[in-house]
Amino acid sequence: MSNLDSLIQDLVIANRILAREEVVDAYGHVSVRHPDHPDRFFIARSLAPDLVGPEDIVELGLDAQPVGGDGRQLYLERFIHAAIFEARPDVMAVVHAHAEDTLPFGIASATQLRPVIHAGSFIGPEVPVWDIADSFGDTNVLVTNMAQGRDLAKCLGPNSVALMRGHGFSSAARSLIEVVRLSVYLPRNARALMRAKQLGGDIKYLSQGEIDARNAGYRPYSPETWRTWEYWANKAGCGHLLTRPDDAPKG
Ligand SMILES: [Zn+2]
Repeated sequence: MSNLDSLIQDLVIANRILAREEVVDAYGHVSVRHPDHPDRFFIARSLAPDLVGPEDIVELGLDAQPVGGDGRQLYLERFIHAAIFEARPDVMAVVHAHAEDTLPFGIASATQLRPVIHAGSFIGPEVPVWDIADSFGDTNVLVTNMAQGRDLAKCLGPNSVALMRGHGFSSAARSLIEVVRLSVYLPRNARALMRAKQLGGDIKYLSQGEIDARNAGYRPYSPETWRTWEYWANKAGCGHLLTRPDDAPKG
């Protein structure tokens, strides 16, 4: 199997994992940059992530339009992905979702969403909140053009996640494994923080030193990370699509 075929299969796995872990439902999407053409990316056609197969993947340019005239219906909010890939050459994979546990932190200004659990460290020390109304006034609150996508990407800046007020979040990382991992743990971190707030008293966040220490030891294809990916893929019913790092062509 070619590297591109295995990347497409990984993208299918990412779709299924995000659905099984309830980060996405009928809505929400994940994309990966083309490894040989950095000005293109792969994403599913307009379809619930749990139903996505390799045949549903489309290739888009950084204008969010299909390469090669693919006429299939596309996600309305694909501009999020195009604008983040455009703004961040370091980013290889993007997720956008509406996970319910993240929503309160985009609405209430009293408590910032920051890492409080060890696996939450991957969301980074700061999670900015983007409010579409700041630049665009009254809209349907969805990102439906490049100007809105670029405004969101600007708010994201060098961070890994931006919350979107009254809507959801967008996350970005160096690989599919990393963006899936941080997108799965983002709502879990939000849930732990919400419950801790209910217990009362001061909130103890992960320190910058703890976040740095966790990131320093992290590799996307380490045995520990692969274990999570393999577990989630099997749980999502697509273990047969896995390409083990050891199976990848050497060289
Ligand atoms: Zn959305």
